[in-house]
Amino acid sequence: MGWDRSKCLNKIMIDLRSDTVTLPTRGMLEAIYRAKLGDDVLDEDPTIQKLEKKSADLAGKETSLLVPSGTMANLTAILAHCERGDEVILGDLAHTFLYEAGGISSLGGVHSCQLKNQKDGTILIEDIKNSIRKDNIHFPTSRLICLENTHNRCHGFPLQLDYLTSVKSIAVENNLKLHVDGARLFNAAISIGTSIKEICEPVDSVTFCLSKGLSAPIGSLVCGDQDFINKVKRLRKVLGGGMRQAGIIAAAGIEALDTMPDQLILDHKHAQILAQALFEIPGVTCDPDLVPTNIIYFSIREYSMGNKNFLAEMEKNGVKFFELSPNNYRLVTHSGISEKDVLEVIKIFSQLLS
Ligand SMILES: *Cc1c(COP(=O)(O)O)cnc(C)c1O
Repeated sequence: MGWDRSKCLNKIMIDLRSDTVTLPTRGMLEAIYRAKLGDDVLDEDPTIQKLEKKSADLAGKETSLLVPSGTMANLTAILAHCERGDEVILGDLAHTFLYEAGGISSLGGVHSCQLKNQKDGTILIEDIKNSIRKDNIHFPTSRLICLENTHNRCHGFPLQLDYLTSVKSIAVENNLKLHVDGARLFNAAISIGTSIKEICEPVDSVTFCLSKGLSAPIGSLVCGDQDFINKVKRLRKVLGGGMRQAGIIAAAGIEALDTMPDQLILDHKHAQILAQALFEIPGVTCDPDLVPTNIIYFSIREYSMGNKNFLAEMEKNGVKFFELSPNNYRLVTHSGISEKDVLEVIKIFSQLLS
């Protein structure tokens, strides 16, 4: 029997809310069915071990650990680097700052220094330098710099290699660690035309999600050196993230790493087509130059139909996406979106907005 991914949905929708809505492929479900399993809290799940080895090799790090989500990946990584009262330097639009429920401070007692994110997801080198604390009992201790690659709220921009290297130098000079939230790390590597290993080279630790564009149902990896991962593993247990026959998750993850990265090339192409089309619709503001990967931000002028109904009207036509603030919207392309869907979306946009 054929496996039809669209059958998993209640309604046939063109869902551009996020690349997290992606469904597992048939290959992933078959891999889950075949997976060799054991108790991973007792270090006995061979499929988990295979995924963790593969992920560490990809990132060029000593070792890695599977955790249930990107949020837990960042939380365990930051808590492994920092003691209570230490300070982490991060962007004011960082996912960790905005969308991870403040876990680093509520659970870890880690103080954050939020610096302005530029349009391309970077933080100015000068700003980072100026924010590093002197040794003084009045100050928290600067311990860690966190970057995001690609940057979700900054148009899905990838970080350039020379930028990563510059930030690494500052970290080394000041005895700080560098962590990268690479939820969309594969999109970043494709966008700047380099390997995962190369963009991970300057960083002490990196996380990436299997469950975004790579389309696996669950899971994120934390990669780094052995001492660091030992701490992450203890923290994962503290947070209730030690999972037993989790090879069923890892099996889909391995399949995702083997088969899905090339899909992201297509996702980026679809995002460009959408951005170009939106750019040409009068009353829509969308800059295709600000769409380097699979995330499109756009805004619309007031229309007679009223912006309040815009999302509802689109949904009636079978297209879903998020409003970030009044008149400002985000579209995300992914493996559930075909070229035909893209053309359909453009048609509906043109009809509703012209
Ligand atoms: C989605 C995302 C995360 C968190 O991943 P979850 O699996 O949803 O917890 C972290 N960072 C960025 C940049 C993300 O886009």
